[in-house]
Amino acid sequence: MEPAPIDLYSLTRAELTALVESWGFSPVHAARLWKNLYLGLAGSPGAFHEIPVRVRARLAAETRIGVLPVGREMESTDGHTRKYLLDLADGERIEAVLMRFTGRVTACVSSQAGCAMGCVFCATGQMGYRRQLSTAEIVSQVVHVAREIHSAPGNRRLRNVVFMGMGEPLHNYDAVMKASDILRDPSGLGLSAERITLSTVGVVPGIRRMADEASPIHLAVSLHAATQEERAALVPAARKWPLDELMDACRHFCGTLGRRIFFEWTLIDGKNDTPAQAHAVGRLIRGLPAQVNLIPLNPTAGYAGAPSGSEAARRFQRILADDYGLPSTIRLRRGIDIAAGCGQLAAPQS
Ligand code: SAH
Ligand code: SF4
Repeated sequence: MEPAPIDLYSLTRAELTALVESWGFSPVHAARLWKNLYLGLAGSPGAFHEIPVRVRARLAAETRIGVLPVGREMESTDGHTRKYLLDLADGERIEAVLMRFTGRVTACVSSQAGCAMGCVFCATGQMGYRRQLSTAEIVSQVVHVAREIHSAPGNRRLRNVVFMGMGEPLHNYDAVMKASDILRDPSGLGLSAERITLSTVGVVPGIRRMADEASPIHLAVSLHAATQEERAALVPAARKWPLDELMDACRHFCGTLGRRIFFEWTLIDGKNDTPAQAHAVGRLIRGLPAQVNLIPLNPTAGYAGAPSGSEAARRFQRILADDYGLPSTIRLRRGIDIAAGCGQLAAPQS
């Protein structure tokens, strides 16, 4: 049987160099190839420059570029958000989102097809788990968004990536971290670790591993409730990783790395937006170098709750700031009309 071709998006620059050298070619060709892939954003060998014919022949025989075909794309009426439904080779589908803010462009990418964590208010959780994404499938989403904004008027560069699409990134730790290394490579996309954020439902061993491995990327932890009981009702994964263990892991992360941590709080009207709950979360995370992202609930088919109103959101924010010195932001509601908001990604399977 033919060996499966190697997806070039699965390789770090060191691995690509080793591969090209193993064929008996100069590492110079690997360096050029890397630039073609991540600076030229080449989606096919036809777009390669300065690669000799003998190297091309070997590449054609043994490698491929895992560009993910776009099944569908949608632009939000907000004018800032575009969502791509991408087809994977085995028929699974995932979604990636491009968000244009003033002065920056962000790619929100998926780490799994579906998700096993089952958070009640999340469309990805409602669809269930399909499979892990490979490093190449994660990198390919980012390159796709980079290509989109590069070819659009303004010719901008992608600077920010968030692992906040479908799936739980710390449930696919190795593939996600390798993808982030590839994205950060200074002679490729060159994304700064400062501008890559991973959001987790609270996978305690993964948070500890990030701390112990000195992962350079930002960590956001989805909290949503300040007591174990309330949290477990929204986030079933809390039964496996209880709140006190989660907070210990967060303290370990900040303490070991001397870095800030983000907490996410989906604001659900009348459920977790009362002043008492704002005080509870303030007490819970007081003392940590933390910032809170408040996300008014986005609609999903499987959950009946409503988003908190802006007054309740601002009241929550004021309590965190005035009584606990905690900075917070209220996330802009973007892309809701095309179901591209937080927790709304759920690719229909083909
Ligand atoms: N699996 C990761 C990252 C993906 S979701 C995690 O859970 O953190 C990104 C954020 O959107 C998380 O904080 C998640 O809790 C939140 N979210 C999920 N469903 C939502 C919804 N319907 N409305 C608003 N935020 C939601
Ligand atoms: Fe999975 Fe995150 Fe959705 Fe929970 S919120 S089901 S962890 S994607």
